[in-house]
Amino acid sequence: MKVVGLTGGIGSGKTTVSKMFNELGVPVYTSDERAKQLMVTSHEIKQQLTLAFGEDSYDEHGQLNRSYLAAIVFNNANALHTINSIVHPAVGKDFKEWARAQESPYAIKETAILFENDLHHQCDIVITVTAPVKIRVARVMDRDDATEDQVLARAKNQWSDEQRVALSDHVINNIDLADTLVQVKEIHRQILHDEG
Ligand code: ATP
Repeated sequence: MKVVGLTGGIGSGKTTVSKMFNELGVPVYTSDERAKQLMVTSHEIKQQLTLAFGEDSYDEHGQLNRSYLAAIVFNNANALHTINSIVHPAVGKDFKEWARAQESPYAIKETAILFENDLHHQCDIVITVTAPVKIRVARVMDRDDATEDQVLARAKNQWSDEQRVALSDHVINNIDLADTLVQVKEIHRQILHDEG
């Protein structure tokens, strides 16, 4: 089975595009979502986070204390690195197990920071979703009820579209949804054709 990495900048439409592939029967692994789940369910992650940041990392119900960890990260740049070094390998392992159970010709791994974390080498094919920055920011402001500064702050460590496109096998320009679906269907056809 081929592993197809699907990435794109904040608000580009990764989730929207993933859903289109999923509706064509392609299994989709959403790395951010799984990371959030694993931070609550994985005994290993819990143990390591508690060791690094103390018992307050989880509340009395075993739920992740996000505001506590966010405050630590806010005051200490190394803390984010530590959290990532605990969570990312666990997600990588979880993805491998998930991928082994899939029986389709290819599966999609949706990751916002595919290139930034050097994960594109682990994919057979990479798809980047693009849209102009102005549109992307406006979408996220609308979706998350956030300010422009908040959205830009979240995007500050992400690569530019130009950098991502240069290393991608396919690019989906996601502006008009109907046109996006046409591009998704064409890439799906090409991947199945190349696989067959
Ligand atoms: P993030 O980087 O925050 O994870 P994302 O890349 O997964 O975001 P989506 O959540 O798919 O992006 O899209 C961001 C918002 O823009 C959503 O509210 C979505 O419904 C909307 N959206 C996505 N594509 C389009 C489009 N072509 N036209 C209009 N709205 C869109």
